[in-house]
Amino acid sequence: MENVYDLVIIGAGPAGLSAGLYGARSRMNVLILEKEKSGGQIVTTSDIANYPGSIPDATGPTLIKRMVDQCEEFGAKIEKGTVEEVDLKGKIKKLHLKGGSEVESKSVIIATGAYPRRLNVPGEKEFTGKGVSYCATCDADFFTDMEIYCVGGGDTAVEEALFLTKFASKVTIVHRRDELRAAKSIQEKAFKNEKINFLWNSTIDEIRGDGIVEEMVVKNTKTGEKTVIKAPEEFGTFGIFVFVGYIPNTEIFKGEIELNDKGYIETCQNLKTNIPGVYAAGDIREKSLRQVITAAADGAIAAIQAERHIESIEY
Ligand code: NAP
Repeated sequence: MENVYDLVIIGAGPAGLSAGLYGARSRMNVLILEKEKSGGQIVTTSDIANYPGSIPDATGPTLIKRMVDQCEEFGAKIEKGTVEEVDLKGKIKKLHLKGGSEVESKSVIIATGAYPRRLNVPGEKEFTGKGVSYCATCDADFFTDMEIYCVGGGDTAVEEALFLTKFASKVTIVHRRDELRAAKSIQEKAFKNEKINFLWNSTIDEIRGDGIVEEMVVKNTKTGEKTVIKAPEEFGTFGIFVFVGYIPNTEIFKGEIELNDKGYIETCQNLKTNIPGVYAAGDIREKSLRQVITAAADGAIAAIQAERHIESIEY
């Protein structure tokens, strides 16, 4: 069957690249499709301290570069392509790409990850890239010696707030409750850091300015009281970094793959979806721990299952 891949992986984050590595090492004909740059969310991560054996000072981009090189070394093909529609039920899976082309494969691994949840408040969209950011690694430098507000209380918000203290004069974590969700070890670092302040029981209600962020309205979640925070005069602006969780990229699979009420794909421990020959790996899965290590493990398991699947079928 010419032009039919053994395995197509959608998404080139840690889950997709691990699947590519394991698939290619199993001598499958593997294509990884990525709509943007390889890496997924991890390329916006400044510090990778909890991936076993990662080199000191490893960042998201350096770790991903090593994963991409390793994957290609074993023969996996990585191509840019946006999957717009899928037809997965048959023995041969069909993926329709933006631009009109079609890719066929005997098995598919969905590793499309998740994207940052927005606050959905007035001004957020208008000032994205003009003071509002979802990526500390990308934008921290713009706020050297300025003030930054970091929204959220999870691991991401607190870790990125710590990273942002290397640039900003002051970082304020704005959290809707009076207790962080982040792991205790991360919290301890934040509480010890003199540049980090906390605005508890608070949400951002509106972001305002003239071309760039100049002020924001913060609401107390307990009392309902609203306060306007203005940029210090010397800079005329401040940064708002939003880290309030993620939304799974499963839109194109609706109606084809079973999703749970939060939009994640539920799998068995072998990462099978409800469709034979289709697997899910990484952050799009319903799981208890979303980390590079768990995404990488998913990729390996899914690729080996895909190999077993195509060997068990007569084409
Ligand atoms: P998360 O754990 O879901 O935390 C999201 C935070 O945003 C929570 O504090 C939540 O508040 C807050 N929030 C949600 N919606 C909000 C809204 N509309 N307005 C204001 N605040 C809102 O997300 P995450 O921190 O991005 O982490 C995602 C996953 O990655 C987690 O499993 C995490 O453990 C993992 N992760 C791990 C590491 C690490 O181990 N080094 C680093 C980064 C991420 P509440 O607390 O009140 O719900």
